[in-house]
Order: sequence, then structure tokens, then C-alpha cells
Amino acid sequence: MHVFSSDTHHGHDPQFFVVRGQIRRSNEQPERAERLKLAAQRAGHTIAPADTFDRETLETVHTPRYLDFLENVHARWLELEDSNPEEVIPNVHPFPGEPCTYPQHLVGRVGFHLGDMAAAIGAGTWRAAEGAAHCALSAVQHVQGGARAAYALCRPPGHHAYAERANGFCYLNNAAIAACDLRPHHERVAILDIDVHHGNGTQGVFYDRADVLTISLHADPHYMTPFFTGHAHETGRDAGEGYNLNLPLPKGLNTEGYLRELERACDRIAAFAPGALVVSLGLDAYEHDPYQGVAVTTEGFERITRRIAQLGLPTVLIQEGGYLSDALGDNLASALAGFA
Ligand SMILES: [Zn+2]
Repeated sequence: MHVFSSDTHHGHDPQFFVVRGQIRRSNEQPERAERLKLAAQRAGHTIAPADTFDRETLETVHTPRYLDFLENVHARWLELEDSNPEEVIPNVHPFPGEPCTYPQHLVGRVGFHLGDMAAAIGAGTWRAAEGAAHCALSAVQHVQGGARAAYALCRPPGHHAYAERANGFCYLNNAAIAACDLRPHHERVAILDIDVHHGNGTQGVFYDRADVLTISLHADPHYMTPFFTGHAHETGRDAGEGYNLNLPLPKGLNTEGYLRELERACDRIAAFAPGALVVSLGLDAYEHDPYQGVAVTTEGFERITRRIAQLGLPTVLIQEGGYLSDALGDNLASALAGFA
């Protein structure tokens, strides 16, 4: 399989992250991508650099003011008196359902566009996020060229990012961008998110659309972030009603249990009959992942992706989460083997 990667990710290495009130280094570290790339290479896949694409390809998902913000905020932050020179961190947020005016002050904009403290922005964040999106678009291009599947080694990940809000380590929604790039070629496109966290941003981007089906299997938000979304009763809105499926999973669910839930997702995709599929491939459903949500084994990833491959659709695989553990690389090799 072709693996598209970008070296720009090295410039993004957030140090500021808060866990239960303690400042810690973020789990989303450059080492992740290096291990994934090495594992893909060792498994015999073809590593290719991402192409570059116009900004319009990002505007299919994200607003121009948000893209401007991401690109320029760090330089403007440095001009603020006594700001943290390393990273842009939000400290105020709008309240849902209340009147909200787009702020003029930079600190207000930071709170408007950065949904949590897991979306810090450093000097290299924009280039890295753009590079990750270009990996996704390169994988789409490869699949449109006739390949059965392609894998985008996206870092930072994307499935938590909304049209104009970063959160949960995500800035640009790589899977949504891929789906929108596929859409002109296919009447319907499906996104299947198997990261252990709910793909809240992806759900948000397509929530009122019937042409892009969004399905997410994830740790039940009753016990895991993003807490506010990912519940089974969120089924879509207006024209999109019935085109969003959330499958919340109990803590510690094993591979067999996971495969049973996956069957429901695959049935829904088959009924939708899309022309192409985007998979948000998080590897954090792994049993020894630091997040400890569900308990898929290394071999389990191959069984999961083999079932997805049986759908027989042109498929773009997008790297999402999956954090440092001894098996991170093996888990990717296993997931890619399911498509062999
Ligand atoms: Zn995740």
C-alpha cells in the first residue's frame, strides 16, 4: 500500500497539556509518527511524500477566518505583552446557546477557536497541520487514480477538529477534508471512525448532510473524553437526520465484542451504498494504549480492517490517535495487513 507522509510534523511538538490539573507533556508526540512510518516501511509498504494542494481544498471543511487564525496566531501571540513564547493556550471560551460575537481581541479569538487545552499552537503547528491534510489529499488522489486503498500518516490527527474549532490534538479535520475531496467523484461517501475517542469534529462537520454518512465506534462518552458528544441519540439534524451513527462501547470491550459492533457499522455502510470510504484509523483502541478505553489486541486490528476491506470500497485510511506503547508500530502493520 502507498503510505503518504510529511516531514512538517516535526515542527509541532506541544509541551503544554493538562491532566487532572497537572501540567504534563502532551501524549501527541512526534515520536508517534516516526514509529508508525518505520513500521509501515518494515512491513513493505511504499513510503511517499505528500503532494501540496491549494488552500481551497481545506476550505471545503474549514472557514477562511479559522484558516487565517491557525496560520497567523502564533506570530501575533508573540506580539502580546508577556505571552508564553512557546505556545498559544486558551483561557476563555464562549458558552453554548448564549449570544456570541466573533471577538476582535486575539485572546478572545484563541478562546473561540481553541476548544480545549489539548490544542496548543506553537511556531510549527500550522505547517504540520497543513502537511497532515496534504497527506490525506494525496491518499485520495492515489485512490482516485485506481488504487484500492491508500494510507495517510497524518500528524497532527484531525477527527476532533470542527469547521472552525480545534480541540483534542486536532486542528484540521483530515478525514473530513478527504471525504469532501472524494465527494465530487462519488454521490455518497462514508466515514468510519474507529479511533477510541468519538469523532466529534467529523460528526459536527457533516451533522446536517445526507451525502456523507458518519459512523463512529468509540469509548462511551460517559467515561471518556469528549464527554459532551458521541452518544447514541445523536443521529443527525435536518437533512442529515439518520446519517450519523454513534456506537458507544463499554470500557474494556475485547476484540470479539468490538467486531460485533463493527458489524452494525458495516451493515449501515452497505445499506448507504457509498462510492468511497474514509476510515479514521485511530490505534488507541489497543488494549495497552495509554488511554485504556477498550481492549483490542494487535491481531484484532487486522481482523477489524479485513472486515472493512470486505466492503469492497475504494478506501482512504487516515491516521488519527494511537499513543506511545511498545506495540504502536505493530498495531499499524496489523491494521494495514487487513487490506493486503
Ligand atoms: Zn483517540
